[in-house]
Amino acid sequence: MRRPSVLEWILIGFLLGIVAGATVGPSIAIIKPLGTVFIRLLKMLVVPLIFSTLTVGVSTSSGGKLGRMIGKTFLFYYVTGICALLIGLIIAGVSRVGTGMQLGGVREVALQKAPPLSQVLLNIIPTNPIKALAEGNILQIIFFAILFGIAISKAGKAAEPVKDFLQAVAQTMYRLVNLVLYYAPIGVFSLIAWTVGTHGLGVLKPFAYLIFLFYLGCAIQLFLVYGGLLRLLKIRPFRFFGRIKEAPFFAFSTCSSSATLPVTMRVVQGTGVSATTASFVLPMGASINMDGTAIYQAMCVVFLANAFGMHLTVAQMAIVGVTALLASIGTAGVPGSGLIMLTMVLGSVGVPVEGIAFVAGIDRIMDMARTAVNVVDDSVAAAMVAVTEGETLSEDMMIS
Ligand code: ASP
Repeated sequence: MRRPSVLEWILIGFLLGIVAGATVGPSIAIIKPLGTVFIRLLKMLVVPLIFSTLTVGVSTSSGGKLGRMIGKTFLFYYVTGICALLIGLIIAGVSRVGTGMQLGGVREVALQKAPPLSQVLLNIIPTNPIKALAEGNILQIIFFAILFGIAISKAGKAAEPVKDFLQAVAQTMYRLVNLVLYYAPIGVFSLIAWTVGTHGLGVLKPFAYLIFLFYLGCAIQLFLVYGGLLRLLKIRPFRFFGRIKEAPFFAFSTCSSSATLPVTMRVVQGTGVSATTASFVLPMGASINMDGTAIYQAMCVVFLANAFGMHLTVAQMAIVGVTALLASIGTAGVPGSGLIMLTMVLGSVGVPVEGIAFVAGIDRIMDMARTAVNVVDDSVAAAMVAVTEGETLSEDMMIS
């Protein structure tokens, strides 16, 4: 008999996790550390992986190509981000989700203030790149890696050893990703069992409609927006999704696009996207490109406004759109950070921020889907940049 592949083992872990969580209930939390081990292992890979691959990628690209790639990547981020917001606002607006819920007895929540945009932008420049690496500050690492890569290519022969060294580090890191994946079935099992065990049906019931609409919004974004874009690029959407499925699957289990990054880099390169493009588009995407989070924030604001008996005007909806786009950019790729940034969006239109307490209980369930959308979002961005830069993806994925 054929032995199951790693992916099949992971799927088995996922299904067993659901069964274990549902049968054991909240006390399954005892195995959560096994999942934490997995997330830590994945995070361990992120900094050396992005620094080495991005620096090598940039050092082998010409200045013109780099500028074009940055332009295209950002254009993609914004266009699909706006689609995501519209989907969230329209679904929530039309369905009037939350109306009549009469939220009362609002609990106080500790709020985190969103920093001003100028500060966010300034913070991208590291004053000490070693500190940025040590602290795993992804945007600062990207900033430094791009400049470092450009300097390597300008320095020519003198910097060859640095480039060779980083190339070797990148290859080694890819190997290490494969090794870590052997632990994935246990990690996924434990994370899913914990989620199902601690978020039983009782917690979900009053919010079932919101959760359903949110998953619907995610499906529309995936199949209509990304599917449509892939078709425009002459890529078969379902083949592409099939090829990268490990990434959203891991995102679903870990609720962290940053922790999923090593897997996303691996599967996206498996579609034929070059290492240069993947290492350029994906790490940046994992920090600032979050369409799933944008759908979630737009929907939650309308939901909470309805639940508090407020009526949002079209102008207020537009404010929600702009703030949610900025908030999703500022959201870190870690579990639950979209919930924290939601305070900023709620505050922008005067919906009581304390409403967060109500959605916090179901956040994990929503985080799973939004993180999965976030990593597919990045993967499609990488494919778009690759195809428009003349790279050839696997032939069987292309519409001839
Ligand atoms: N968990 C999400 C991510 O890692 C971010 C969020 O909470 O919305 O992509």
